[in-house]
Amino acid sequence: MTQTVVPARPPVTLPVQGQGDFPVGRIFCVGRNYADHAAEMGHAVDREAPFYFTKSAYAVLQSGQDMPYPPRTSDLHHEMELVVAIGHTAQGISEEQAMDVVFGYGCGLDMTRRDLQAAAKEKRRPWDTGKDFDNAAILGPLTPVAQAGDVAAMEIKLTVNGATRQHGQIADMVWSIPEIIADLSTLYTLHPGDLIMTGTPAGVGPVVAGDVLHGTIGDLAPVATRIV
Ligand code: MN
Repeated sequence: MTQTVVPARPPVTLPVQGQGDFPVGRIFCVGRNYADHAAEMGHAVDREAPFYFTKSAYAVLQSGQDMPYPPRTSDLHHEMELVVAIGHTAQGISEEQAMDVVFGYGCGLDMTRRDLQAAAKEKRRPWDTGKDFDNAAILGPLTPVAQAGDVAAMEIKLTVNGATRQHGQIADMVWSIPEIIADLSTLYTLHPGDLIMTGTPAGVGPVVAGDVLHGTIGDLAPVATRIV
């Protein structure tokens, strides 16, 4: 057996309620998937096709840990999102087949350096530095499908220091969970361990050091952090 030439980073995992760990592969994120959030960002909803960006698994911060205020920004925003965890390989599957590859669900925060994202948009450059950075994907424990209930009927909510900032319905997503999975599976081969962050409802905004964030979706395990 050969040795690695630099130290190998340990795999990134998320706890699954009562069942051990889920190994995180890629993190796909859906843009503008709630009409009210698209409007607050100055866009109409595009029903032509969903669009995506990605975060590295190494951007994951476990719920319950503090998030250090990141460098190179003065406009760190919260985006509260439903996370869909993929449990089976999928390539070119239909909407009817899509739910069969879902392992479970979780609560996530798509933390965003909004100033860097806005500068990238203006110059028609990629969003990576605004979206994919250390601790930018704050993720709660996963709940397996069988224990999760009807996620599509759940409320999604985020409080900051106890005050409600975001409050919406999963049913208001522009692209449904099976539509997103089927579409993504035509762009990529999905693998067990992949995660999909499904977009955020209206109410995104800045956070500062000292803020406490608490996000819930129905009775899924919540996501929480404190900015330090
Ligand atoms: Mn987002």
